[in-house]
Amino acid sequence: MTATAAPAAKYPKVQNYIGGKFVAPGGQTLEVLNPADGSLLSHVPLSGPPELAAAVRAAAAAFPAWSARTIKDRVQVFFRYRTLLERDAAELAELIVEEHGKTRSEAEAEIAKAIELTEFACSLPQIVTGEVLEVSRGVECRTERHPLGVVASIVPFNFPSMVPNWTIPNAIALGNCLVLKPSELVPLSAGRLAELLAEAGLPAGVFSLVHGGREVVEAICDHPGIAAVSFVGSTRVAQLVYRRGTASLKRVLALGGAKNHLLVLPDADLEMTSSNVVASMSGCTGQRCMAASVMVAVGSTDHIVKRLVEHARTVVPGNNLGPVISREAKERIERYVTQAEQAGATVLLDGRNTVVPGREGGFYVGPTVLDHVRPDMAIAKEEVFGPVLAIVRAKDVDQALAIENASTYGNAASVYTESGGLARYVTERASAGMVGVNVGVPVPREPFSFGGWNDSKYGVGDITGHGSIEFWTKAKKTTTKWNRDAGVNWMS
Ligand code: NAD
Repeated sequence: MTATAAPAAKYPKVQNYIGGKFVAPGGQTLEVLNPADGSLLSHVPLSGPPELAAAVRAAAAAFPAWSARTIKDRVQVFFRYRTLLERDAAELAELIVEEHGKTRSEAEAEIAKAIELTEFACSLPQIVTGEVLEVSRGVECRTERHPLGVVASIVPFNFPSMVPNWTIPNAIALGNCLVLKPSELVPLSAGRLAELLAEAGLPAGVFSLVHGGREVVEAICDHPGIAAVSFVGSTRVAQLVYRRGTASLKRVLALGGAKNHLLVLPDADLEMTSSNVVASMSGCTGQRCMAASVMVAVGSTDHIVKRLVEHARTVVPGNNLGPVISREAKERIERYVTQAEQAGATVLLDGRNTVVPGREGGFYVGPTVLDHVRPDMAIAKEEVFGPVLAIVRAKDVDQALAIENASTYGNAASVYTESGGLARYVTERASAGMVGVNVGVPVPREPFSFGGWNDSKYGVGDITGHGSIEFWTKAKKTTTKWNRDAGVNWMS
């Protein structure tokens, strides 16, 4: 019998980035697979408290000099970083395609979004100018924002470049030193971001990468040298991180999962609505926290349902639809569909058991549409995170709103209608932090802030835009009197 050699990984083992250098930790590793064909891309180290401690030491050492620079000076790094993201956009997108499985155009859109996020950071000097007011004759109050120190950002798998860039440019431009913990499922893109930040002139230690899973996340929550933690991922882990981080007296902003409802009214524009709903539920293979998950079809909307199934048929796995992230994800998604079918839902389009010829090892789920889903079914309540649309029927707008409001999540909700009054009625009453009118993915673009409600976010503030400034800084309030003629009053 001859032994068969294990297949070689395409890339060398992933390394941490600490103190401006890539370093290879010992210990356990996980395989990193290409979800499009199951091939081995690399191995990612499962770091723990020692590696995290080393990153925090390097960050703490870099903090005094970095925070002492003016913000106008600090953002110069991000002007250059932006240019480098643009220069390497094709290569960065290719890496996302490989490690995440997105289609090429989705991966390119992710880099375009990373650039937009960086542009916001470049504009921070224009925004964080502070306030000054003469509050009594001769007495002046002013506020200015100071960085927190060493901060950490823990990110999910579904946007290997964009979500890290929700925090990297803002936290660092505001004067902090950041430790990033990428998803162990997609660790490759973050290494390229570290290289580009260094090339842009970011001093050693200001940005670090520590790879791993639960152990390093817990170490981040517990480390006394870390002042604030931002987290993006599932609600289950968001709760763990929020509880553990705040228990060790850190500032924590933890964004969780989602169950987004699109309310479709009978007067909605047929083509725009049906194509948008499909784009929202199948874009990035439904692995977006802003994806349409439940469509609440209000009243006579059969014509829209019929048309959207036609649109969904044009979404083809392996062509304009990427795989889901793992075999476990594929099995979980298919389980939800089967359970719903067994509970009485009608499967209008079935993406289970999809195999893409030539990529038999890939983790594909085709677009799936279920009608007559009841609000009490698991598929209507829980996050599925795949290209699956559950259609729930409602007799009127109030019943549709009650279904949306009953969700424990609250990331996004949208309404499709031609009536301004009804649109306003819905957006006022939807229990979600990001609402849309005739928009399937109502992402608030910069300078607006990204963040949900309810079980989709724990903590104060938002993760991008204006909302992030408060989170990554602390305000100093200075009261001054230089004018002796102002006399004596209660503030003297
Ligand atoms: P996840 O919660 O499994 O993982 C997120 C991060 O937490 C990863 O870095 C992971 O290593 C770490 N982690 C996982 N299990 C842990 C544990 N037990 N203890 C400590 N750390 C742990 O999420 P995911 O599967 O990578 O990403 C998908 C989820 O992220 C979805 O629920 C999606 O809705 C959510 N998400 C939310 C937003 C938002 O803005 N609200 C944005 C993107 C993704």
